[in-house]
Amino acid sequence: MHQVIILGSGPAGLTAALYAARAHLRPLVVDGHETGGQLTLTTMVENYPGFPDGLMGPDLIAAMRKQAERFGASFRGGSATVADLSRRPFRITLDGQVEECQTLIIATGASAKLLGLPSERKLMGHGVSTCATCDGFFFQDQDIIVVGGGDSAMEEATFLTKFARRVSVVHRRDKLRASKIMQEKARKNPKIDFTWDSTLAEIQDVDQGKVTGVRLRNLKTSAITERSVDGVFIAIGHTPNTQIFRGLLDMDEVGYIKTQDGTKTSLPGVFAAGDVQDRVYRQAITAAGSGCMAAMDAERFLEHAGH
Ligand code: NAP
Repeated sequence: MHQVIILGSGPAGLTAALYAARAHLRPLVVDGHETGGQLTLTTMVENYPGFPDGLMGPDLIAAMRKQAERFGASFRGGSATVADLSRRPFRITLDGQVEECQTLIIATGASAKLLGLPSERKLMGHGVSTCATCDGFFFQDQDIIVVGGGDSAMEEATFLTKFARRVSVVHRRDKLRASKIMQEKARKNPKIDFTWDSTLAEIQDVDQGKVTGVRLRNLKTSAITERSVDGVFIAIGHTPNTQIFRGLLDMDEVGYIKTQDGTKTSLPGVFAAGDVQDRVYRQAITAAGSGCMAAMDAERFLEHAGH
């Protein structure tokens, strides 16, 4: 029987683990399907306070993990496949094995949707990114493609014009899904142009280990064209990793867990932290902050429940 199980090993889960471990709750952290979360998909992180020269995303995660381990957090690989939250202790099935816990912290994050190209995965963090706030700064005076037609794509394209020489939005239809106001802002920006009815057939150049160009496919004519670019931002939405909690916890229409009064979910004893409950800020530092809150909320819950 665990006092706290933490699902997810990104900044939210690891900060929750650090605080829970220091409160002598001996948390069990379940790595999840993407160990370390989205930070492991990026390279240099320059906006995490305390590191004036920046540091690599995977190094930041490794340091957080070590710090949580030092105070007694334990880790196991794999993912939770079933959650029985009908009564306490909660029963979490981890790769076929059931673990029981008095409190549960869900920090399973959200995964950026990808196009599914092998070159996209291989060049992730080397010119391909899913976060303009994180990586835009590295593209000073360069040419960038943003894929997507929603609010995220408009926001990222507009933000990237602060750095880039030219930003081309590539959208699979000839109408944007984005809100009128965000569309207008992007359309009025002289650095932004649009390529309609198109998608990326390939991102080059995997052999060089960096982005040098793309092959574009026109979805109406199937024509392929090539274009030289230095960066590709994929902005086609995120999916919160909450499938196993559907119907068990209150969520918004897309599946982000609703929290209130700190990190409390609709079920007492279950807390949510990081991107799994945040579709607005989505930063490492905000995820870490809410992970800290979740551990403190769990500790208080256990105190009141007499554990
Ligand atoms: P979204 O609204 O779901 O838009 C995703 C876009 O990506 C759509 O244009 C979609 O094309 C395209 N897309 C999806 N899968 C694709 C694929 N496999 N290949 C190529 N294109 C693909 O997602 P979002 O823009 O991330 O926004 C999510 C939510 O957050 C929305 O409710 C949005 O309003 C909100 N948001 C608000 C703000 C803001 O107000 N500041 C900023 C960001 C997000 P189709 O149009 O053809 O489906």
